[in-house]
Amino acid sequence: MQFEEVSRYYEKLENISSRLAMIDILSEMFSKADKGEMKNLVYMTQGVLGAPFEGIQMGIAEKFAEHAIEIASGYSHEEVLAGYRKAGDMGLTAQQFMSKSKLKAMGKKGLTTNHVFEAALKIAKTSGEGSQDMKIKMLVEMLAAGSPLDARYVMRFVLGTLRLGAGDATIIEALSKMATGEREAKADIENAYNICSDLGRIAEVLVEKGLPGVKKIKVSLFSPIRPALAERLPTSEEILHRMGSKCAVESKYDGFRVQLHIDKKSKKVRMFSRNLENTTEMFPDIAKAAFSEIKADEVILEGEALAYNEDTGEFRPFQETIQRKRKHGIEEKALEFPLHLFAFDLIYLDGEDFLSKPYHERRTKLESILTKGGLIRPSDRIIATQAKQIDIYFEDVIERGLEGIVAKDLNAPYIAGARKFSWIKLKRSYKGELSDTIDLVIVGYYTGRGQRAEFGFGGLLAAVYNDKKDIFETITRIGTGFTEKNMQMFSEVLKKIRKEKKPARVDAIVEPHFWVEPKYVVTVRADEITKSPMHTAGKEGDSPDALGYALRFPRLVSDGIREDKNPEDATTTKEIIEMFKMQKKVKIGK
Ligand code: ATP
Repeated sequence: MQFEEVSRYYEKLENISSRLAMIDILSEMFSKADKGEMKNLVYMTQGVLGAPFEGIQMGIAEKFAEHAIEIASGYSHEEVLAGYRKAGDMGLTAQQFMSKSKLKAMGKKGLTTNHVFEAALKIAKTSGEGSQDMKIKMLVEMLAAGSPLDARYVMRFVLGTLRLGAGDATIIEALSKMATGEREAKADIENAYNICSDLGRIAEVLVEKGLPGVKKIKVSLFSPIRPALAERLPTSEEILHRMGSKCAVESKYDGFRVQLHIDKKSKKVRMFSRNLENTTEMFPDIAKAAFSEIKADEVILEGEALAYNEDTGEFRPFQETIQRKRKHGIEEKALEFPLHLFAFDLIYLDGEDFLSKPYHERRTKLESILTKGGLIRPSDRIIATQAKQIDIYFEDVIERGLEGIVAKDLNAPYIAGARKFSWIKLKRSYKGELSDTIDLVIVGYYTGRGQRAEFGFGGLLAAVYNDKKDIFETITRIGTGFTEKNMQMFSEVLKKIRKEKKPARVDAIVEPHFWVEPKYVVTVRADEITKSPMHTAGKEGDSPDALGYALRFPRLVSDGIREDKNPEDATTTKEIIEMFKMQKKVKIGK
């Protein structure tokens, strides 16, 4: 497939305002791809150079990209810089300069999709002496070989600023439509996605082996499984009732979720975060412990990493654990606060897939492969048959500085990528007013007045994720809880992802000063969930009387952006509706 065709589809995607139109355009585009380029086309559309969990960084800096435009078009540095300042986007700048290029295009060769993808990958991987010149040269060749419109998208792709706004759920529907003409294949593709998290691989299997091939995709080492998530209920009675007469109750550690993959034979270990980023470098001590403490060769297990003082039995706060995201000084930190991995699930063991086995069996096996007293140990738990037992355990856990409990259905399989009642969390906060935190996606922002004017930042417009419709619905403006430092940070990072008009997957009534691509998640606390005509969260129908949900007195509690959550990991509309009901019950109870 010529890249020129892809460019035209990308241009269409930029100009539409509905998610359904997005699916149509994507499925038409996918259906034109050859078998050998399907995988790359899907990655490219996601704006990545491989499965996202591989974390391959785009490899060229803006100033070198600018330089490539100068060479490819024959304009001076000052001219290109002035053009960029005016356009505010390197893709548009490339397009403009290539369309008035001073250099004669000698029989333009054109670009293919694979060529663009592979060259971008090469640019990313080239390093060492003289690598900048080589990167620039490769980029110049692409700019010169394609059309001016191609230049726009080539440039955005290599800089990592493509941002077509198609989330994974949208791509899944588009693939389903391509394969069956309808949404029939959606559930099977989703299942495969939940166990391999790799849409490029799925798309390739889909065109090569059809849907039966997709159904056969199995758990494999170093391809992370999408995490199982917990539902909420307000009391231990309700939890036990929902579980039957008996359930497991585990401590809920407030640390950093880790999915650990290890293959001892090839000496390889890898860890993934909740949103499946490769976080192996954050936990060198756990990586080392995995080789000596796990009594098996090939394992995928899950747990919560948390700084823990074994002598005092004291758990360290989440902030301390997360500091390890900063790569510097990790070794020292590792010594100061030994991190433990409290393992709570087993997904794969020596060639055997454990996903469909019941919890009690996974747990027993998990305990049997861990060495006692090490850094990796099973999460603490009890088996409860009475609500009273759950309450006592809950109080005990809170006293030890933990967040609450997670109750688990003894007979349930591991349900990848879904929030189900086979896991139910109970935090201290549900017992009072609404003080559980909510994770929101930033969809717009306001410029500040007074003191805040200097930062160009006055607050956020934030949304929840409606996973049924795969859109973001606004729920609140956030104006408090910001430090000077994070106002500055928000103003800088949000400026880079501004959108001229409302993004296609955002549903809103209120207008912020600037729309942004839904990309970043923040955590807020609010006093209450209320109903409001101004917000679209949970709003049914278009009647002017219809009400959505809103937050009362929201304030930012995360220290800036939640790097371990993707936009689709934010609190969902459905959860807000459930929390609203729970809040009413608690009020009546009082
Ligand atoms: P939260 O912000 O409450 O952690 P979340 O949306 O990240 O919520 P949930 O599914 O709501 O995730 O809660 C489960 C989370 O709790 C897991 O992602 C995991 O990180 C953490 N956790 C801590 N201890 C356990 C445990 N014993 N079993 C399962 N999850 C646990």
